[in-house]
Amino acid sequence: MNSQNQKILLQSVQYLKSVGPKRAESFKQIGINTIRELLFYFPSRHLDRSTVLTAAKAYGYVKGGYDGEVTIIAKVVDREKIHFRKKELLKIHFRDSSGFFECVWFHGTKYFYSAFKEDEIIAISSKPEINKYGNLQFVHPDFDRITEEESNNFLHTGKIIPFYRIPKELKKGFIGDLSLRRIISFAVENYADHLEETLPSEIVKQNNLIVLSDAVKNYHFPESKEKFEEAKQRFKFEELFYLEILVALRKYNYQTKLIGNEMKIKTSLVSDFLKVLPFKLTNAQLKVLGEIKNDMLSKYPMNRLLQGDVGSGKTIVSLIAALIAIDNGFQAVLMAPTEILADQHAKTISSLMKKLFSINKEHKIKISLIIGGQKKSERNEELSNIELNKVDIIIGTHALFEETVVFNNLGLVVIDEQHRFGVKQRGLLQSKGKTPDVLVMTATPIPRTISMTVYGDLDVSVIDEMPINRKPVITVLRGESKLPDIYKFILDKHKSGYQSFIVYPLVEVSDKLDLKAATDYYNKLKNTYLNNVRVGLIHGKMKWREKEEMMLLFINKKFDVLVSTTVIEVGIDIPDANIILINDAHRFGLSQLHQLRGRVGRSDKQAYCILVTNDSLASKQNFGELELDYLSTSQIEKYKAAIRLQTLVKNVDGFKVAEVDLKLRGPGDIFGTKQSGFPELKFVNLTEDMELIINTKKIAFTLINNDPGLKLPDNNIVRINLTNYYSENLKYAEIG
Ligand code: ADP
Ligand code: MG
Repeated sequence: MNSQNQKILLQSVQYLKSVGPKRAESFKQIGINTIRELLFYFPSRHLDRSTVLTAAKAYGYVKGGYDGEVTIIAKVVDREKIHFRKKELLKIHFRDSSGFFECVWFHGTKYFYSAFKEDEIIAISSKPEINKYGNLQFVHPDFDRITEEESNNFLHTGKIIPFYRIPKELKKGFIGDLSLRRIISFAVENYADHLEETLPSEIVKQNNLIVLSDAVKNYHFPESKEKFEEAKQRFKFEELFYLEILVALRKYNYQTKLIGNEMKIKTSLVSDFLKVLPFKLTNAQLKVLGEIKNDMLSKYPMNRLLQGDVGSGKTIVSLIAALIAIDNGFQAVLMAPTEILADQHAKTISSLMKKLFSINKEHKIKISLIIGGQKKSERNEELSNIELNKVDIIIGTHALFEETVVFNNLGLVVIDEQHRFGVKQRGLLQSKGKTPDVLVMTATPIPRTISMTVYGDLDVSVIDEMPINRKPVITVLRGESKLPDIYKFILDKHKSGYQSFIVYPLVEVSDKLDLKAATDYYNKLKNTYLNNVRVGLIHGKMKWREKEEMMLLFINKKFDVLVSTTVIEVGIDIPDANIILINDAHRFGLSQLHQLRGRVGRSDKQAYCILVTNDSLASKQNFGELELDYLSTSQIEKYKAAIRLQTLVKNVDGFKVAEVDLKLRGPGDIFGTKQSGFPELKFVNLTEDMELIINTKKIAFTLINNDPGLKLPDNNIVRINLTNYYSENLKYAEIG
């Protein structure tokens, strides 16, 4: 790299025209120190002539029934404060060459009053309407200031104008829309040509990418729409390329730098266990077990994701993996996201191990439980048992991360419901052993784009079949007015041995949220509708002991109905609980509802999931997953709750449910891509850019396979860029 260029770009922004030390300080607060960094502060959107209307045209469109967004460039005519019913309203009149219109603010009127000055030129963007006086009007629109010169250039030569986000740190330093655009324009004009390529030149050529300096110029001030698209394409490529390089390195290092424990099937431990299992494993369970076993017996450490819908039987699979580790003299750790789930795992696994001991006396497998809220003496005893290798399977929650937990000989790490944890946390457990095998489990299907990118270092196994004895859960949506009938149903079913969950979104009544609370309804229900059955209560604010006791009582059928919050959301396995009533169901996310529904239907009895919401929402039966493709974004936004509920009513398959969830929420939210240890994606859309992902992955993996040390002259540039701009991410790629 030409160090002269680099030196120039690494100068402080302070030396740019109209910046100076004060404004440089503001830039510093948003992480921009150098001119190079400023060049990469990209606009959030652009104003382009094809999207701008005159006021007269916009008026005509709205009259004609158009209800989308428009942009108008206009001058401020005057500002008017209007008082009515003790409230203040701000109306600003605008004009352009074709006529007048107005913008109205009901909140923050003081601020917006001073935000505008007469004769300023503003680009107004929003959904307009026609008010009762017949005038074109925008309510609380987005707006951007532009200069007379920019406006002339824009209108006459079609120049595209960038709009930048102005964080409060910049505002405080008196850097606004106009000044920031001026500063960046100066920087781009004078410094963009010093930017040197960050991708190997062969790759730039082969993929028809525009070079970095061109891309930067055109991302700020595009020569044309096409040029802007080319710039965007280049940044998308680069972003994915480096992501996949990191994925490839992580995978490569995992397989070469780390020496796994080459385990063996030494005794009859596993086969004996299969004999005492009360059921036969499904073919899908056998298939994934084969994959897991291969990993464990190989010299490479396992790094595998096990995906299987709620109730598909992942726990048993992980337990068998644990037995393989134990057969080789190792300890295994199983981490769960909640105390209740960890406790349940400990109990079911203990009882299975007792059965195993009845036919295999050579191994007495011992379990240890580590959760928050244990008594100190109890905890200390568990800790020393773990350290002295007196226990074989250690089950716990986040408490396992604590330094005081020292394993003796950790060979397997299992993480249940992995989406609740980040990569950093996974690494933390891993580092407590000497390259243990790692198995992470999730009920959420991983879309291909995710498994190829942020989860790209994991091998994936899928359980795609349910145990045969299952009947699909019957799911219905009901309005609140039907609750008395639902209680009757619960009582009726109770006579034939059914237990029920009744779920509420809150623990206690809140004055802020108008939602139903568990404690409140617990008291009401046991004295009214449900006074003839035994009702229990469980929620997150209870002490651990109380929760444990309540679950035990419910499992042992000392209660018929368990009123609860979402503490029972994941993992809980009570085969005789076959009805779940979810109140205020519209308040829960789709995957959350699917998880909650997964609490029932775990035996051969017919199970029911009753979603209850307000009567008006319950009557909207028309927006289901099928129609989703035909709805506009704004309609989806509006009908989100109805779509979620209908999706659940129509689908029992978690895969279908997850597909809709992905459309509603996007992958970042669901898969915690930010916690992945990989760089955040700013340009790429993980749901749309599939083809590019496949392409860059191939390129990056080939490159790393051929030159893992990045020693070839062509790849020099990749190595330098990784150290310069991805050092944080590189830490995770290098492993250990
Ligand atoms: P999840 O995949 O949601 O974690 P679990 O492991 O909790 O599911 O299993 C759900 C229930 O199914 C448990 O009661 C478990 O004992 C039972 N189960 C697991 N595998 C089988 C099978 N092959 N046949 C019948 N029941 C099974
Ligand atoms: Mg589970």
